[in-house]
Amino acid sequence: TFGAMVRAPSQPALPGVKHVLLVGSGKGGVGKSSVAVNIAAALARDGAKVGLLDADVYGPSVAHMMGQGAAKVTANAERKMQPIEAHGVRFISMANLSPAGQALVWRGPMLHSAVQQFLKDAAWGDLDYLIVDLPPGTGDVQLSLTQTVQVTGAVIVTTPQDVALIDAARAIDMFRKASVPVLGVVENMSYFVAPDTGLTYDLFGRGGSRKLGAEHMLLGEVPIDMEVRKDSDAGVPAVLAHPDSVAAAALTQIARNL
Ligand code: ADP
Repeated sequence: TFGAMVRAPSQPALPGVKHVLLVGSGKGGVGKSSVAVNIAAALARDGAKVGLLDADVYGPSVAHMMGQGAAKVTANAERKMQPIEAHGVRFISMANLSPAGQALVWRGPMLHSAVQQFLKDAAWGDLDYLIVDLPPGTGDVQLSLTQTVQVTGAVIVTTPQDVALIDAARAIDMFRKASVPVLGVVENMSYFVAPDTGLTYDLFGRGGSRKLGAEHMLLGEVPIDMEVRKDSDAGVPAVLAHPDSVAAAALTQIARNL
């Protein structure tokens, strides 16, 4: 459990925040944001105080997945950014700052300062967990984060096919070099059970994430489930909308096992 975890050394803790958890991936489109949103919602439903920072600045999806794509972040009396609250989770996303559909053409230093502001100039309040949805890959934002605050650990999301695993291995290596403990790997889109026949299809090669090495704990296998996609489009995390589905149960278990 979290209590036993070591923190990455030498960065200051975020005041009032017990654990900063990063959710990363090598590639985009593997379900990183979906996993981050569902982990956050599951922990909040279990009674924890949870914040969710959308640091995927190039493709911010958290606001939409939380059903708050049109909401705007406001400043509070202390001129701090007030996180938006939905499904028991306080979150901030670049999507709630910039007009919809507008591209962000920012250079590294601007991204660095945006992430810094999200971390430090937002009124997160006391949190048990701040979940951070990272951009895919191994770039400026990831480095900036690991060099700014004390991080409890990182969760790596991957699909099981080789081309995703190769990049997931790179992401794991980046965290290792930044002294951020990798808590484990989530195999998303692991398999598919046809709802009409009940037949199981290993579309991308279920179990492939074990190739990343036995030292990286497999936190769970989440099947491809149409409800997960529909729920994220509808703005209600699957762990809340369809808690009894196999995918939602896997996501809930992943959150509880962290
Ligand atoms: P990433 O953050 O890695 O780019 P997203 O979380 O945005 O990926 O997911 C990409 C798309 O795949 C979204 O439409 C999402 O709803 C869908 N998706 C993610 N995981 C699953 C799943 N297990 N089953 C079905 N659809 C999924």
